[in-house]
Amino acid sequence: MFKILVSDSLSDEGLNILKEKSQFQVDVKTGLKPEQLKEIIVEYDALLVRSATRVTREIIEAAKNLKVIGRAGVGLDNVDLEAATERGIVVMNAPAGNTISTCEHTMSLLLALARNIPQAHVSTKKGEWKRSKFMGVELYNKTLGIIGLGRIGREVARRAISFGMKIKGYDPYLPRETAEQYGIEVVGLEELLKSSDFVTVHVPLTEETQYMISEKELSLMKKGARIINCARGGIIDEKALIKSLISGHLAGAALDVFEIEPPSADNELFKLENVIVTCHLGASTEEAQVNVAIEIAECVGDFLLGRGVRNAANYPSIDAELYKLLKPYIVMAEKLGLFAAQIMEGRINEVEVRYSGEITKYNLTSLSMALMKGLLYPILKETVNYINAIPLARSRGIRVNEVKTPADEEFINLVTITLKSDKMTKSFAATLSPKREPRIVKIDGVYVEASPFGHLLVMRNWDVPGIIGNVGTLMGRHNINIAAMVFGRKQPGGEAISILNIDSPVTPEILNQLKQIDNILEVKAIKL
Ligand code: NAD
Repeated sequence: MFKILVSDSLSDEGLNILKEKSQFQVDVKTGLKPEQLKEIIVEYDALLVRSATRVTREIIEAAKNLKVIGRAGVGLDNVDLEAATERGIVVMNAPAGNTISTCEHTMSLLLALARNIPQAHVSTKKGEWKRSKFMGVELYNKTLGIIGLGRIGREVARRAISFGMKIKGYDPYLPRETAEQYGIEVVGLEELLKSSDFVTVHVPLTEETQYMISEKELSLMKKGARIINCARGGIIDEKALIKSLISGHLAGAALDVFEIEPPSADNELFKLENVIVTCHLGASTEEAQVNVAIEIAECVGDFLLGRGVRNAANYPSIDAELYKLLKPYIVMAEKLGLFAAQIMEGRINEVEVRYSGEITKYNLTSLSMALMKGLLYPILKETVNYINAIPLARSRGIRVNEVKTPADEEFINLVTITLKSDKMTKSFAATLSPKREPRIVKIDGVYVEASPFGHLLVMRNWDVPGIIGNVGTLMGRHNINIAAMVFGRKQPGGEAISILNIDSPVTPEILNQLKQIDNILEVKAIKL
């Protein structure tokens, strides 16, 4: 008998899937305080949560029998993934269940914004009849700019097209042809901002997307344009947005998400007549809640009954014996993907994975899954997991090819990926060190030996004296400790690759200063 604790309210359709099975005892105990959860978690094999329960390291360490944590929804910010992984606890999420709901919420906000529905509603209920005050605009023949063309962005495009809107889309990571299949004209961010009457954002919150719409971007938008955020607070800079709305440059904004949630009642945005807001309701439909509850109940139930692992955020699906054997390679493959993703530029449209050496006698699907998860994670965050990574890549128009070849002459085992984007083709290879630790050993055929952990600086430079000294001095000046440095070159005096492991991240200013150093051609800061 497996004991399952459900600590946030979950729809009955999901719960019943588990309750119907004689092998499960399901206890629903919502509203537990952290101390209470810590006390009772000891008895349970599985924990199901939504976003309210905080599954901290302390809770995980107290959970002696816990095998799986299921999150009914996408975001995993309330689960300490690292602590769960260290304890061998599988964490699962349900990334696809709320796409349509969030898309429809975006459409609701788009229409409400165009026709001043919330403002007119309040006024009319007060007994007023101000028809001219609430004059709206049509969507027909207008341009909708969609930033982020993932699941939700593309569904929004389909619906907006049926309203007669022209769609411009910006997503530097999605192959152009995939977006074009949805009737989206792919453009740069600047063109999108300059030419759209309505702009809607559907990107995850990452270091790159935080404040991606700030003062400069808002000023590029057409005078009288309107903006919608149904993705995550912090993608649009609220202070800049307030300024733009007050100045009359933007005609309106509709927001479902905020930089701080819940926002305080005296938030300046709430004082503006042309701002309409909802309280993070994107996924709040009966259908989405049922979808995510069913998805997570099925995944967790199947896992407990040994029927395979699906939607795992921290564990690939293979049998325990093989997993033990391949684990160092799986870690290596994921790091290789993460590393390569941060070096590549442009829209990746082809991935070739080449395995060589002794490992080729095993089923290496788990390595390909980990590799692809690493490759997509910097841009998709929690919506990509081990299990959906390969199908997700294919649905985004990326061709994935896997080949096995006999042993490489120099390495007992080697995993090489060749990535093609619309801007470049690059290859990266990794192997395990004698201590079975991952090492990046080749970049574009140039030998290096870098440890893919923590913060790294990857530089292309001319192979001339003085570079190490200059880089070292700059790092020292900013109090950044260099833990390791490796170099590789094809021939003396030619182009070389230098990789530094550093103990703390560099700021964009330091990165710029590095780029100014003589004979450095390019520098990338990478986080693994
Ligand atoms: P997705 O992973 O399918 O798509 C995200 C897209 O953003 C990808 O195509 C990716 O290439 C693109 N992207 C990443 N970085 C980018 C950048 N710098 N510039 C342009 N594009 C970039 O995700 P999804 O399921 O479509 O969800 C989109 C967002 O909506 C997520 O942030 C998600 O958390 C949010 N969301 C909000 C609610 C809500 O309640 N309001 C509900 C569900 C999802």
